[in-house]
Amino acid sequence: MSTKTKSLTPLMRQYHHIKEEHEGAILLFRVGDFYETFADDAELVSEELGITLTKRNNGSDQTPLAGFPYHALDTYLPKLVKKGYRVAVCEQVEEPSEAKNAGRKVVNREVTEITTPGVTMSEKLLEHKRNNYAAAIYWEDDRAGIGFADVSTGEFSLSEVPEEQLNDLLQSITPAELLLPKDLKNDVPEFLLDYNLTFIEEWVYEGDYGYDLLTDHFETHSLKGFGVEDQEVAQVAAGALMHYIQETQKASLGHIKRLQKFENNDYMALDGSTKRNLELTTTIQEGASEGTLINILDDTATAMGGRLLRKWIMRPLKSLEPIRKRLNAVEALATHHDARENLREELNKVADLERLISRICVGRANARDLMKLKESLGQIPLVKMQFNHLDEPLLSDILDRMELLIEVQERIEEAIAEEPPASVRDGDIFKDGFNDELDELRNIARNGKDYIAEIKDELAEETGISSLKVGYNKVYGYYIEVTNTHADKVPEEFIRKQTLVNSERYITPELKEVEEKILSSEEQSKTLEYELFEELRVEIAGYAEQIQQVAEAIAQIDCLQSFAEVSYHNNYCKPAIADDQKIDISKGRHPVVEQMLPPGDPFIPNDIHIENEDEQILIITGPNMAGKSIILRQTGLIVLLAQIGCFVPADEAHVGLVDKIFTRVGASDNLAAGESTFLVEMNEAANILNNATRNSLILLDEVGRGTSTFDGLSIAWSLAEYLHNQPSVAAKTLFATHYHELNELENMYEHIANYNVSVKEHDDKVIFLRKLVRGGADHSYGIQVADMAGLPSIVIERAKEILSNLESHSLDVTDSNGTLEEGAQKKKAAVKKAAEEMEKQGQIAQPSLFQAQLDPNTEQLIDKLEACDPNRMTPIESLMLVSELKKLV
Ligand code: ADP
Repeated sequence: MSTKTKSLTPLMRQYHHIKEEHEGAILLFRVGDFYETFADDAELVSEELGITLTKRNNGSDQTPLAGFPYHALDTYLPKLVKKGYRVAVCEQVEEPSEAKNAGRKVVNREVTEITTPGVTMSEKLLEHKRNNYAAAIYWEDDRAGIGFADVSTGEFSLSEVPEEQLNDLLQSITPAELLLPKDLKNDVPEFLLDYNLTFIEEWVYEGDYGYDLLTDHFETHSLKGFGVEDQEVAQVAAGALMHYIQETQKASLGHIKRLQKFENNDYMALDGSTKRNLELTTTIQEGASEGTLINILDDTATAMGGRLLRKWIMRPLKSLEPIRKRLNAVEALATHHDARENLREELNKVADLERLISRICVGRANARDLMKLKESLGQIPLVKMQFNHLDEPLLSDILDRMELLIEVQERIEEAIAEEPPASVRDGDIFKDGFNDELDELRNIARNGKDYIAEIKDELAEETGISSLKVGYNKVYGYYIEVTNTHADKVPEEFIRKQTLVNSERYITPELKEVEEKILSSEEQSKTLEYELFEELRVEIAGYAEQIQQVAEAIAQIDCLQSFAEVSYHNNYCKPAIADDQKIDISKGRHPVVEQMLPPGDPFIPNDIHIENEDEQILIITGPNMAGKSIILRQTGLIVLLAQIGCFVPADEAHVGLVDKIFTRVGASDNLAAGESTFLVEMNEAANILNNATRNSLILLDEVGRGTSTFDGLSIAWSLAEYLHNQPSVAAKTLFATHYHELNELENMYEHIANYNVSVKEHDDKVIFLRKLVRGGADHSYGIQVADMAGLPSIVIERAKEILSNLESHSLDVTDSNGTLEEGAQKKKAAVKKAAEEMEKQGQIAQPSLFQAQLDPNTEQLIDKLEACDPNRMTPIESLMLVSELKKLV
């Protein structure tokens, strides 16, 4: 013991001892009716929770202190965890009298639970339709392993991938807490910095420790049965995770029944930026859920269904059979409206079975939870009845997995009273007749009360005091009350206990004897009920695996009905899936945008045909705001929807299986603040070229925008050539661009075709037709769009003047020798010539402008005008741009 701790009070010594063992967690230290925090914890807690910080006079120094009453734990603890803290709750684990009898100066205390962002069972911290994962990672040589678990549902999985895929894998899991070994604390790889990190002892990652922990937990000799025996790197990660969960939960983890192998290769690869760009679960701009695909698709009725739907969206399938099975099941449900409606109604009454059984397993359930379990299991025959006539393999398979578990229902039915209390310690949980001993104790208590009524009548008769009463209070127990008018009739054996203004209170030995029986039987029956409840809970926990299986089946049917419901209401069609390299969409729509357009502004559908051996790369031009990005995204989303087994927003669709979707969205749409957007763009492009295959779908939107025009054009050009010419990466590609020069590629390469999103010019205004048509766009209408956005007319007029001069010196980047560098030179020469001519004609007011055309200022001016997206600018931004432009003139 250090001299510092020596001078402390026994309580504070105990505190410091426990605090040291729970480094990195806020320690809520139970003292009587309060949870207290001390020192740094107190300062932090008072700041975060807005509670008062005081000082505790603690011998020599004054320790800061902040606390709250014990009953506020449920309010404050989730607040702290939501802010990313780990919180350890330290309880008094004995009565003060026990400590006193044993000669201890302070009561024994123990940390009974640690709640962390990734490991929690608290309903206040969990979202119904979202898994809450803790994950551990570990890497060795070029392999990376990850273990991830949701303790609230009992899911525990591991996965092993080549190291470079770790980032994408993590992004698909989005853990609420990520565990790393302590020795990485000052050396955390950059891509992990955004996670809520917890550092654990490095020895946990060593030797056979993790492996043994896993085999102990799952009660197996090896991990062979789980098919993960050879994934040694992932085992280390999973072992570290198991260690952490055991350390924090401090309860049975009986609901974690299976070690699931997550095979990333079974699913279509979607890298992080693709998930973001396609706005699958969050929007790019605000990170909101409205405007996302999941928001449109999720019409699930249960929490389990909602969680599974999220997984399905993030993990599209890659093989024909399972996709077709889902599509056929969705078709059956989409066409049988009554069945679907009734199914939805019955599913609505099913509680979150996964989380219920988890709470039951870890000992956090009360009698009401058991009732909920019983009622939900009671729904199962009704759920099954709604679709058991639909003859589809996947539906039959789901039906088979929905065990009714009648014995569980009956067991709870015979045991638990109609409306049980929330507490498991105050009795009234069980029905009469469930347990003989309990019945007997209850009888004594109830009869005792009748007996007391009898005693009262007898005493009244014996003493002749008809107004004699028998009452009860906590201090004296049962007593006899006689008003002062009858004081003379009180017999000698009455023992006086209390004097009131108008009466006296007495007890008798007989009354005390009965009282003793009543009270002790009440106490005993409460204790017995608690014990019986624990037994029943453990018994029901024994069904965890079956209940989890039912929950999984419910989740699946719920997802399928949700797809069917959405497909029916939004007029989607069943896509044809094939193992070929063709995507053929007739009248395709964007599933989200079509829902968000204002009334009277219909979504214009478009056809898309891409095929490796035919039109493999579509160069799509058209002015800003024409609808290029929407076409790219809707194509990606239609393919994704088809491969998760959902109908698609189109009149007809043929989807040849896609192994990966890549997206690259233009710099102006990218919000990577502070970073060089060009660098981000190029990293993403490199990722695409390194990982795409012939079966991939690539969506490139305005590649090269983040740099100067010539650099950008050159990069875009050579990218398209590479995707065309390299057989291994010759993926189906939609290439939206504002570089009209790229239209030349069509003449040079067999599988490149030009398209444009058409517009009409009317009264010098552009009208967006939003139709994708064959051929390149001949005009970029940038000035008209700028005009529509409200740029001052003087700027617009001047821009038109400059443009018409530039245009009279047309540019051909592909001369006979076809090098881009020469093209660039030519463009500069053309600009120079145009400027010279303008000067000659006296069109340029200030000769300096001519020079400016060639100096970097002018290039900047053009770039700025080109890069601005008038329809996304606020009036203030436009004004600022104009004044910026003015400075360059
Ligand atoms: P671009 O990429 O050509 O600049 P976007 O694809 O971003 O243009 O489309 C601009 C806007 O036009 C969208 O936000 C949407 O409101 C509207 N839009 C695009 N395509 C359609 C369509 N097919 N039908 C109706 N509105 C559309």
